[in-house]
Amino acid sequence: MSAVDDRHRRQVAFGPFGSEGQAALAAATVAVVGCGATGGAAAELLTRAGAGRLILIDRDIVALDNLHRQVLFDEEDAREGRPKAVAAGEHLRRVSSAIRLTVEATHLDASNVDRILDNVSIVLDGTDNISTRFLLNDWCFETGVPWVYVGAVGGEGMLLPIVPPRGPCLRCFLPEPPPPGSLATCDTAGVLGPIPTAMGAMAAIEAMKILAGASQPEARKLRTIDFWDWRVRDIALPPRADCPACALGERDFLHDERSTRVIELCGRDTHQILPPPGPRLDLEALADRLDAESDHLLVNRLFLRLDLGAERLTVFADGRALIEGAGNADRARAFYDRYVGT
Ligand SMILES: [Zn+2]
Repeated sequence: MSAVDDRHRRQVAFGPFGSEGQAALAAATVAVVGCGATGGAAAELLTRAGAGRLILIDRDIVALDNLHRQVLFDEEDAREGRPKAVAAGEHLRRVSSAIRLTVEATHLDASNVDRILDNVSIVLDGTDNISTRFLLNDWCFETGVPWVYVGAVGGEGMLLPIVPPRGPCLRCFLPEPPPPGSLATCDTAGVLGPIPTAMGAMAAIEAMKILAGASQPEARKLRTIDFWDWRVRDIALPPRADCPACALGERDFLHDERSTRVIELCGRDTHQILPPPGPRLDLEALADRLDAESDHLLVNRLFLRLDLGAERLTVFADGRALIEGAGNADRARAFYDRYVGT
């Protein structure tokens, strides 16, 4: 038995997965979109499980307040402000010298998704925002690549494996993106540290089942787990006949007009965030959620302003925002998603 076989022998010994599942995993390229808490856990487990190649995509840098849940990173990563995709790659190389890694320290959007996800076998959602998930859903139905939607916020996690061309897909459950500022994020609602790792582990298991050809269509449900009160809910929704993505074949989010744009304003480290047109923001409700973040929060009928050390966020009721002090466009976008949420 070779060293590699020896490494995975207890996994191969599990009959339903077996040597065929192991071979499928070794031949696979897995894209991990977002290498923070859920994505990082899934990336590490799939590296250990024997995935052949991983593409690590993340636009953000490691910060101290990531460490309670983002298991790939340590204090030195935070001190040095390393890009998460880079730090994740360094960590995973220590886990396995056999894994082939591609590191993309950038924001995935409609302009680069074809290049970055070229030839992937499966996509794992480790994102923190709904607009990237709508992009992934469209791209995966356009190309026939499966993806696993996964999220964690507060005391809850959610999971939905999606295997085109069959639904249900993300848009069967959520036909349109909710307006910016209307969803809870880990920064506005908090998150219990172990939950994203638990959800990342479940996403890794679903990926292994899909790659091994063992994912049963009828078992693909939207599952939400309240870890605090131990309530598990399964929503077994049949694919919607009028779903824009999986039934009608619309690919709205592969076009720029449905994605959030970031524009650098000249000369003063300020970025303007322009979300796609949608309902007006409820600034008072957003202010309530952000109240604990800073002593410097100002809200009126027209705008909300939040001062966070070197950075300042100003959000207008139409969803447009100015971010000062972020340093670059990817960080400005990450900042917006973290505090306003898209
Ligand atoms: Zn659908």
